[in-house]
Amino acid sequence: MLNFYSLFSGSSGNSLLVKTENTNLLIDAGVSSKKIENALNFLNISPSTLNGILITHEHTDHVQGLGTFAKKYDLPVYVNKKTLDAMPKQKDKILEKNINLFTIEEKFEINDLQIKPFAIPHDAVNPCGFSIFKDDKKISIATDIGHMTNGILKNLDGSKFVLLESNYDPKVLMCSRYPYLLKTRIAGPTGHLSNEAAGKTISCLLKSGLKQVMLGHLSKESNFPELAYKTVVEQLISNNYNENSLLLSIASRDTISKEVAIQ
Ligand SMILES: [Zn+2]
Ligand SMILES: [Zn+2]
Repeated sequence: MLNFYSLFSGSSGNSLLVKTENTNLLIDAGVSSKKIENALNFLNISPSTLNGILITHEHTDHVQGLGTFAKKYDLPVYVNKKTLDAMPKQKDKILEKNINLFTIEEKFEINDLQIKPFAIPHDAVNPCGFSIFKDDKKISIATDIGHMTNGILKNLDGSKFVLLESNYDPKVLMCSRYPYLLKTRIAGPTGHLSNEAAGKTISCLLKSGLKQVMLGHLSKESNFPELAYKTVVEQLISNNYNENSLLLSIASRDTISKEVAIQ
């Protein structure tokens, strides 16, 4: 069994869950400790049974509740050194014995899972996505990506499921109330991934056995779930696929997703 849930996804906070028979692993803790607790309880998972929390990068929407949550439940945190040092407020709350440092591109194990962190272009100190392996199954998490790179594509290749960022639509972004500088940051090479770029990425990955995709980290101000979905499907069609080529869903900002069971 290898199951995935999005608990929270979007610029207002991110937290994801990977579950096997033996392991419950949280990825990011970007909402309050209380909200994470409630989401886990809803899934009948006691927070203290988590085997760890993986951290992608130090932005608040990924670590807001980290220190408090990890301290309260005495949980191991897996993070790279630069990222840890870039979030002193969170770091101070995490017990030394619970800090597990990883190096990007180097695989490590947590129980029955193998984790491979990979580099992403984003304006944080040392941000990463994750591929997670169990037996012969692979899934990947890739959000906060300024632009798609060959390195990321290589890491996503062979995944049965990907949680992929589909952050913004360029036209909606330009008309949004965001200040000009923020607009250029989001659309820039170390900002976020557009709906169109997400669609192109998925089209590339369908050749290598991708079966399920959840679009995530949608912007509240510069995207709409229907528009993200439609834009991605248009990209699939222009690459000779259609929406029946895969199971395509959208992670909600603050509602727990349906269980994604990886076959
Ligand atoms: Zn970020
Ligand atoms: Zn983010």
